[in-house]
Amino acid sequence: MRIFEAGEPVLRQMSREVPKNEITTPAVQELIEAMFAAMRAAPGVGLAAPQLGLDLRIAVIEDRQEYIDKIPAEQAQTRLRSAVPPHAIINPVLHRDGAAEVEHFEGCLSLPGFTAIVPRALAVRVECLNERAEPVVINASGWYARILQHEIDHLDGKLYIDRMLTSTFMGRENFERLWKNVPIDECRSRLVKSVRDA
Ligand code: ZN
Repeated sequence: MRIFEAGEPVLRQMSREVPKNEITTPAVQELIEAMFAAMRAAPGVGLAAPQLGLDLRIAVIEDRQEYIDKIPAEQAQTRLRSAVPPHAIINPVLHRDGAAEVEHFEGCLSLPGFTAIVPRALAVRVECLNERAEPVVINASGWYARILQHEIDHLDGKLYIDRMLTSTFMGRENFERLWKNVPIDECRSRLVKSVRDA
C-alpha cells in the first residue's frame, strides 16, 4: 500500500469517527491489518488512516525492541523510549493534563527524508476504542506519548511541521551527518537563533 505524502488533501482533513458497531466488521478489521502491514514495511512506529488515504479516526502503533536496539542506548534513554506492543487507537481523545513539554527530533512517513525538533507533552492520557471496540484509557509518557500525539494530530489534519521549531527543519542526511549524536539542548541552541524561531 502506498503511504500518502504531504500535499495530499486527505492529510489536511479532519477525519471522521468510526461508528463503534463497525469496528469489528471485516472491512475495518482488514483496514487495521493493512495499516499494521504498511507501518511495519516502512518501517515506522505509528501510522494513521489518512496516511493510507482514508479519512477515518484510526491509528496503529508499535515500537519494537529490535528498533530500539538499533539506536544508541543513551538516545533511547533520553527519549524515554521503550517497547510498545502493537495496538490500534480508534476515535481517540487526547488529554495533555498540563504535562511538561519536551523537545526531540521527529520524523513522519508522509514527509520522507526530513526531520525537525518538535515540542510535545512529556505525558498524555488517551481515551479511545481498541481494535476490539472496547473502551480503553492509555496513560503514556516519553516516546510513546510523542507517538500518540503525532498520530492523533494526523487524524486532525495536522503534521509535525505545524508544530516544529522551524529553524531546526532539515534533511535526514544532514541530521545523520551533523546532529544525530549532539545533545538536544545543544542542537536547539545552535539552530534556533532568535526567540521568534522558537
Ligand atoms: Zn506522521
